[in-house]
Amino acid sequence: MTEQLADAAYLGAIILFILALGGLSNQETARRGNFYGMLGMAIALVAAIAGITGNHAILVGTLVVGGAVGFVLARRVKMTQMPELVAMLHSLVGLAAVLVGYATYLDPDGHHYEGAEGTIHYIEIYLGILIGAVTFSGSVIAFLKLSARIGGKPLTLPARHWLNLGLLIVTVVLGIIFVGQSSSAVVEYQWSSPLLIMTVIALIFGIHMVMAIGGADMPVVVSMLNSYSGWAAAATGFMLENDLLIVVGALVGSSGAILSYIMCRAMNRKFLSVIAGGFGSSGGGPAKSGDGEQGEAVAVSAEETAELMGEAKEIMIIPGYGMAVAQAQHTVNEMTKALRGKGINVRFGIHPVAGRMPGHMNVLLAEAKVPYDIVFEMDEINDDFPDIDVSVVIGANDIVNPSALDEPDSPIAGMPVLECWKGKTTIVLKRSMATGYAGVENPLFFKENTRMLFGDARESLESVLKALVS
Ligand code: NDP
Repeated sequence: MTEQLADAAYLGAIILFILALGGLSNQETARRGNFYGMLGMAIALVAAIAGITGNHAILVGTLVVGGAVGFVLARRVKMTQMPELVAMLHSLVGLAAVLVGYATYLDPDGHHYEGAEGTIHYIEIYLGILIGAVTFSGSVIAFLKLSARIGGKPLTLPARHWLNLGLLIVTVVLGIIFVGQSSSAVVEYQWSSPLLIMTVIALIFGIHMVMAIGGADMPVVVSMLNSYSGWAAAATGFMLENDLLIVVGALVGSSGAILSYIMCRAMNRKFLSVIAGGFGSSGGGPAKSGDGEQGEAVAVSAEETAELMGEAKEIMIIPGYGMAVAQAQHTVNEMTKALRGKGINVRFGIHPVAGRMPGHMNVLLAEAKVPYDIVFEMDEINDDFPDIDVSVVIGANDIVNPSALDEPDSPIAGMPVLECWKGKTTIVLKRSMATGYAGVENPLFFKENTRMLFGDARESLESVLKALVS
């Protein structure tokens, strides 16, 4: 492939990636956005492979192995395990950046740069390895936390901020030494101790940073690591002098950063305090018995639920992580159709961090073909609850917890929540009185106008649907 053809292909891929991001910003255009993304990636892959001179047998072999692993993983992964998969994939981007950094540094032909050019070259190598190593170890810890292989509780070492600051200062000093040594000496295929020490520090920093972040902040961490993996890819692009990788890395890096910011705003958290860690606890456990002031939770049957819903004029459905676990979205759609058939106005209220990944609920509802025009963001409908007759909370917990607003000491204090208790009646579908991801008790369950429909969400909704249509 000629250089001009490769450049044209890269430009086409870049445009397709930008169109993909634009498409993904809206449910109606998301499918098209995904298609653009896949097409862009296919063009980028073909152009990159065609431009490689070297051992094509090894290249094809690794592509087949990598592609097969990706294919099997993507087919097997459940929707609820998506954030774990994403964290795992980010770790590979980080690892690739580290390996490319070392390969570039150790390349005997790669040290012909002089003056400012040399300085920039070594800064690129240093930053690429630094960001890559933090992304790699941080993503591995995020994967272990999200898959509950290690606890979600934040690890708050004494003086941890000083520790982080110390590591940062040492990293900067090592960077200055590395760039100085590499640019001044005629470097020939040698290991650099500042580079190696920095890599170890960056790996430790990544582990420490994510270990210090608690359960409730994990969505922000996943999106922040997404951003880091983008910057790591951009740094790799500079090292490999590949414009496509630089642009795509910058797109991923900046969109991940914007998403992290939006999520922090949705949780009323400051980005820096999320990174500083120590918020939230391990996920899901039995609620403490408390001091009895909470009162009693009142159970309700599926038939009573159907009766309450059948008499309502305005219904708000609030889905959460439990809907994903129970795979109840199709039953939810059937129930919605039945209720709308009776002339009842049914709407969905979606919290920005409902479920286990951004957009989790929207994806499930779209899969079940719930009409887009009755699905609303939290900000659009939160003021409407006083007019709602029945709110149906399906496997959600933290996102409808009033203590976020009422209790300044609550670990989720300040996080905006769907204020369903302001409606006439709230029905909560869940299996027990267990807490949600943030491990915080929920006073909603004990409110006078709340009823608990215990059981697996799909089974409960199937019984409600049966009662509704009979
Ligand atoms: P929660 O984790 O707060 O609550 C989910 C509830 O679902 C649990 O209390 C559980 O109760 C119930 N549940 C589980 N399985 C079933 C089932 N089969 N049938 C019925 N109920 C079930 O989820 P929310 O969606 O309310 O809140 C999301 C939380 O996850 C937030 O704390 C958020 O910060 C965090 N998070 C969000 C991410 C994102 O990007 N969206 C990523 C990572 C974390 P029980 O066991 O009694 O059934």
